[in-house]
Amino acid sequence: MADTAPDRLNRVLSDIYAAEQENGGVKGEATLVAVSKTFPAEDIQPVLAAGQRVFGENRVQEAMAKWPGLREDYEGVELHLIGPLQSNKAKEAVATFDVIHTIDREKIAKSLKLEMDKQDRNLPCFIQVNTGEEPQKAGIAPHDLDAFVARCRDEIGLEVVGLMCIPPVEDAPGPHFALLQKMADRNGLSLLSMGMSSDYETALGFGATHVRVGSAIFGHRDYPA
Ligand SMILES: *Cc1c(COP(=O)(O)O)cnc(C)c1O
Repeated sequence: MADTAPDRLNRVLSDIYAAEQENGGVKGEATLVAVSKTFPAEDIQPVLAAGQRVFGENRVQEAMAKWPGLREDYEGVELHLIGPLQSNKAKEAVATFDVIHTIDREKIAKSLKLEMDKQDRNLPCFIQVNTGEEPQKAGIAPHDLDAFVARCRDEIGLEVVGLMCIPPVEDAPGPHFALLQKMADRNGLSLLSMGMSSDYETALGFGATHVRVGSAIFGHRDYPA
């Protein structure tokens, strides 16, 4: 019989614990963000029932459709936005999510801050870094990062907690994770959102505090995210 999402969840969690111990870390210290994008609520339910509470979605609209109902049935859900955000969706994003991983320009930083103040919700934010400097990819270029962190933190007043990256598919991810770690260190940021289904164990070796794992738990996605 084919394995189920809860089986796969538990395998991913054991792999994470093993990697943490291998790296001299503390078991259970890293946060698994289970990426449920494209999967309907009925596929997410068993993973919630298995005890997972931290989830990632990449689209505001989709998250708004699925999560209010799931939150009614399960306490303690923490929802992370891991996809690009348009500033006209800032209001919905602040109302729907608990953590934002994808601050990638000043306009977004400002609209989010405005909405957070309006809704009296202070969401921790990661800044997305385009470590591979890919033209089609979102994120702040590495050489602009320090100034952008300072601007978000000191002038705009966002609660910047860490950095996030998605390495280029064709590259070995290690050097990108190492770069993100170095940039976080020099900016006094303690959290690192890096590592997906194919490379979360590598990411943990470079100090990832948040790994974003989708297909290794939920299975193959039929539709592009
Ligand atoms: C889809 C997605 C993930 C999860 O990808 P998998 O390869 O399915 O684990 C992680 N991070 C971001 C930003 C994503 O869009």
